[in-house]
Amino acid sequence: MIGSLLKKSLSEVKFEELKGKGFELILVVEMLCELCEKPLDARKKFLRKIQILSREDHQNILNRARVHDRAEVDIEDGKIYFYDRDFPGDIHPECIEKL
Ligand SMILES: [Zn+2]
Repeated sequence: MIGSLLKKSLSEVKFEELKGKGFELILVVEMLCELCEKPLDARKKFLRKIQILSREDHQNILNRARVHDRAEVDIEDGKIYFYDRDFPGDIHPECIEKL
């Protein structure tokens, strides 16, 4: 499971906390199990680097986040993660056993 205690939901972080900082935008596609819908695996893809200097920059990133399943920011690490979900047609071995 991808997740860190340092990550916060992007929508909960105020502009003032992000202002003047640079971030790497990372797209994370979570591959979900067809049965339990929990992640089997995740693919990460670096998109680009951005800087949040103005409220407009902040709004742009919030707008972009809306098309994704969810968005998280790791302020210390300088990364913003956009999450999407995909069903690759696979099942956890332990879920197959339960069938
Ligand atoms: Zn499963």
